[in-house]
Amino acid sequence: METSPKALTQPHQILIVSEDACQKVIGRREAFQAVESVFSSTAKGSAYNFPVVREAIGHAGALYGFKSGFDREGLVLGVKAGGYWPGNAAQGLTNHQSTVALFDPDTGQLKALVGGNYLTAVRTAASSAVSIAHLARKNAKVLGIIGAGFQSTFQLRAALEQRDFAKVVAWNAHPEHLARLADVCKEHGLPFEAVSPQALGAQSDVIITITSASEPLLQTDWIKPGTHLACMGTDTKGKQEVDQQLLAQATVFTDEIAQSISIGEAQHAVAAAILFVEQITPIGEVINSSHPGRKSEQEITLFDGTGVGLQDLAVASAAASLAEAHGLAQRVTL
Ligand code: NAD
Repeated sequence: METSPKALTQPHQILIVSEDACQKVIGRREAFQAVESVFSSTAKGSAYNFPVVREAIGHAGALYGFKSGFDREGLVLGVKAGGYWPGNAAQGLTNHQSTVALFDPDTGQLKALVGGNYLTAVRTAASSAVSIAHLARKNAKVLGIIGAGFQSTFQLRAALEQRDFAKVVAWNAHPEHLARLADVCKEHGLPFEAVSPQALGAQSDVIITITSASEPLLQTDWIKPGTHLACMGTDTKGKQEVDQQLLAQATVFTDEIAQSISIGEAQHAVAAAILFVEQITPIGEVINSSHPGRKSEQEITLFDGTGVGLQDLAVASAAASLAEAHGLAQRVTL
């Protein structure tokens, strides 16, 4: 039967959820729950990420691409389009720019357009926070942060909620940016110290790396037994934050194995054949209790947080529902 022109052009309503609305309805708790839940669904096989497209477009030094997936249980289908424009900060803009499009999985119709900049930061912080919650030693006291860019304060705030930290130490290539981390520590009444990467390794029980580095910033023998590392900056081929030997010595977990070995921190150790894909565990298995996670107080655990599309879709879907419920989303007829 022929489709009538009316059916092809029938208008429908979509939601527009602004960056501002996202900030009002998605806090750290909502992001943590959404991300933990989707990691669990991924490990059970009820949600999956589609292959990532990420291209250097040869303009403005930008990396642009798509992260997408489908959560069959939550019925969330969509794509985050965007990337990284290194010159944006100089113009007063965030270097990461992205927008999430959510689609009706029953019809394919566009349901919502959701600002992705704040959500990217809060879901990335939730990812390392989930790893700390499930893998760090309960008695972790010193938190180390490598990196002091846009993501870093989100990372710090989310991490501080996971353990009873007594001190924060940090290093950044541009030391003047460390003030933003020091300010967060001041708010929490926590001592803060700027240190060298080696001194950071010697003191820290939990380390978050969140830089755009393309060579190791931390050497293996600088890391204490029992440390948990959340390596969050490496999300592209060629990037690297820690010595590849560390991945051979640590127990390695990730948000998604396919991304971990191709664009994540594990890409180098896997290429050097000192880490094998079977040795990498999706963190969802720890959340679902099908993997024990940390097995001893001496073990070094490392979470390779590459950033998956399902994280974006989970927080964007929660933002769209909450913004609609609170009258904070705009309705537009398409
Ligand atoms: P940003 O541009 O605001 O900050 C970049 C940080 O990296 C700064 O601390 C800078 O000093 C540091 N840096 C840059 N080049 C370096 C080098 N060669 N050696 C050492 N440090 C270097 O970026 P941001 O928004 O804070 O993001 C940081 C990184 O995290 C980016 O590379 C980004 O792609 C990545 N990221 C990952 C995810 C994920 O889900 N895994 C999500 C968002 C961002």
